[in-house]
Amino acid sequence: MTLIPRRKRPFSKYLTKVYTTLIESFGPQGWWPGETPFEIMVGAVLTQNTNWLNASRAIDNIKAAGLLDPKKLLCNQRKVPHLVKPSGFYRLKSKRLLAWCDYFVAKYQANVKKMKKRNLGSLRDELLTIKGIGKETADSILLYALDRPVFVVDAYTRRIFSRHGYFDYDAPYDKIRLLFEHNLPRKSKIYNEFHALLVKLGKTRCKKNEPLCSTCSLQHI
Ligand code: SF4
Repeated sequence: MTLIPRRKRPFSKYLTKVYTTLIESFGPQGWWPGETPFEIMVGAVLTQNTNWLNASRAIDNIKAAGLLDPKKLLCNQRKVPHLVKPSGFYRLKSKRLLAWCDYFVAKYQANVKKMKKRNLGSLRDELLTIKGIGKETADSILLYALDRPVFVVDAYTRRIFSRHGYFDYDAPYDKIRLLFEHNLPRKSKIYNEFHALLVKLGKTRCKKNEPLCSTCSLQHI
């Protein structure tokens, strides 16, 4: 398993170059799509194992029903599976969403400011004890809903950097996360934009089966 950069250039310099190149190519991505921290939390749960379009349809359903509020969702539990159906695995997703709402209301009275006051490490550990909240979901919530400096590792991150020889695709999640966090300025704004840019790159160039290297801005950096 490779985690130490194979190339001579320090990883921090390579990451800075990747970041600036992608910003120049794609521009700021304006992530995460969501009007409130709670909407971002809901999106992070519903986008598990599906694409964003499907998750956003489920969010639209919840909004249209006037239930985009953790307490309202908990009071209308029977409606939730139907509302989240477009996101796939809807029974599982509705249980996960309600488990999140239950936690958010019971522990923080659905108050984002209260949640933000927690120490980052212990808050992350706490999120990972909630049923259905894995590392990528927890880190997406921490970064995008709570503005905490945690680098989100997803399949696009693994694909792009393993193709460039910086770590193996299946390297452990936290080792990859820490590799990024130790080689980038510890700023949520940068982690936010960088992750969004990698998603854009993975969708448009670094595709799963046929990477479009000849038109990719990272080809020669
Ligand atoms: S498309 Fe090719 S050049 Fe671009 S990131 Fe993927 S492997 Fe690298």
